[in-house]
Amino acid sequence: MLQSRMPNQEKEQTFLSQFGKSEESKEFYSPIPEGYKQGETRYVVVLGTVMSGLGKGIFSSSLAKLLQDKGLTVTPVKLEGYLNIDSGTLNPFRHGEVFVLDDGTETDMDLGTYERILDQDLSRLNFTTAGQIYTEILSRERAGGYLGRDVQMIPHVTGEVKRRLRQLAIDAGKNGKQADVVFVEVGGTVGDYENGFYIEALRELAYEEGPDSTCFVALTYIVEPQILGEQKSKPAQLGIKRLMETGIQPHLVACRAELPVTDTVIQKISMFSNVPKECVFSMHDRESIYTIPDAMRAEGLDRQILSILSLHSKVDAIAEDKARVDWKSYTNAISAERMHNINIGILGKYTSIRDAYASIDKAIEHASTHLSAKTTIKWIDVTDFDTTNADSKLEAQDLDAVIVPGGFGERGIEGKLASVKWAREHGIPFLGICLGFQMAVVEFARNVVGLDGANSTEIELNCAFPVIDELPDQKEIEGLGGTMRLGGQDVQITEGSFAAQLFGATHVRERFRHRYEVEPKFIEQLTNAGLIFSGRHPEHEIMQVLELPATVHPYFVAGQFHPELTSRPLRPQPMFMGLVAAAIAHRTGETCPSHIDERWLASKSTPSTV
Ligand code: GLN
Repeated sequence: MLQSRMPNQEKEQTFLSQFGKSEESKEFYSPIPEGYKQGETRYVVVLGTVMSGLGKGIFSSSLAKLLQDKGLTVTPVKLEGYLNIDSGTLNPFRHGEVFVLDDGTETDMDLGTYERILDQDLSRLNFTTAGQIYTEILSRERAGGYLGRDVQMIPHVTGEVKRRLRQLAIDAGKNGKQADVVFVEVGGTVGDYENGFYIEALRELAYEEGPDSTCFVALTYIVEPQILGEQKSKPAQLGIKRLMETGIQPHLVACRAELPVTDTVIQKISMFSNVPKECVFSMHDRESIYTIPDAMRAEGLDRQILSILSLHSKVDAIAEDKARVDWKSYTNAISAERMHNINIGILGKYTSIRDAYASIDKAIEHASTHLSAKTTIKWIDVTDFDTTNADSKLEAQDLDAVIVPGGFGERGIEGKLASVKWAREHGIPFLGICLGFQMAVVEFARNVVGLDGANSTEIELNCAFPVIDELPDQKEIEGLGGTMRLGGQDVQITEGSFAAQLFGATHVRERFRHRYEVEPKFIEQLTNAGLIFSGRHPEHEIMQVLELPATVHPYFVAGQFHPELTSRPLRPQPMFMGLVAAAIAHRTGETCPSHIDERWLASKSTPSTV
């Protein structure tokens, strides 16, 4: 077995301590970054078997939270097998939303799960693709970095993987110490061609780092075919066996299933995978993913992992008590009976694929939980809406609020514009996000200012009034990957505005991903007609938040950024809180914004406040 116990003095003599002296070190490659201290960091590796899309990220982040709550420094990383450099050019239909980090990295939606559950801002170091690894190796090769040596999958590619993980351990550390635990999630499933080198690299890492250094988790799936009416473990067994063929013995097995996994199945999985029963966890469907950390704790998984990694001595019990009370306040609210029932419409073009709007879904969930609202999200495809039919189609949905989300390209635009008009004219609470912000400007320009033919040049290059136009920097750029205005930027909020009341601050930081903006030469005309730009770039003339006055509309707010990306369970994003509060007011007939709850206006601390 890979992690067999060794006597103590032998432990000191691990492979890594001898590694620098070996032949490998003369071969132009070192998987050990300068300053790396072996033994200071442990690794938890989560691998999928049977099929992908089961929630490796959810499992991994929940486990990471358990250790974070105990006062340990944790950092996650997702290893993607695809050759793209980042997720920026991936179609949300195929791959879910593109999650943008504060440093501008465009990543997989799983990074959103990590940020939300760990309440931690991540960076490019927490996201690796095969494309990044190969690019790095090939550039090094062209620069003569491997002269005289054939560049190989092993040791060079696997070495680069290990180097990155160790570098992350250094960079994510605190107070001069490396991170206590790096959580590594491998994309895809064991047996895929494209992630094979990651799995080999992780096997090597565990060997080099020595006993008690690495905990392997196999996430698997328990099928329950309707015709049989019982849970079957064979696909899971075969999947785990496949993992063992790579030389990796799992320490924990997480079984995804619709219903709680039966004792018989747990016993079988345990027997066939050499994993003690206490380390086989039933990860069945739950009301909310945020209840999973508590469920894991209830089954003692936190103690198991401390034992596997010899980390008991690092636990800070006082920190843990506090973290548990905070989290509990949120999970209690999840299961408490809700006072209000509301419907929120998301008007987009990817509405058949909920993953395309995963963070919006979560941001609504956070705000609804805090405000005791049971929110039904209506995913409405507006591609065939226009000015003649939008009103009646929307009227039929019994909506208390609408969101026009971000997007690209022409399809569905007229439907979005007609929907914004309906919300504005009928006093329906409205939140515009990025493209939704731009559509609110175009609609206002056309129907209030009277600029017939106003549009965004993204949609109609030679329109009569280009109220939304390309950012000056963007005009110079060719190619589409990683070229937008990306990542966290400061937003100056006008004192006394509704936005200032919402945020409880006049300086906030939000995350952007756009190429187009409000054309400055139209700002005066738009504001003279009553549109308020209440959030702007601190130095440049870039409009970032808009609103209509309370005398005209109960809640008409939009951001050029993506407010959904910074919403966290314990720190819901203010624009979503405002929307949900306004939707409750719409349902109950109370006036808005006076309805906006003291609980969160008073707290005023959001992750985005700087
Ligand atoms: N397509 C618009 C732009 O590039 C909006 C982008 C978005 O919604 N993320 O500016």
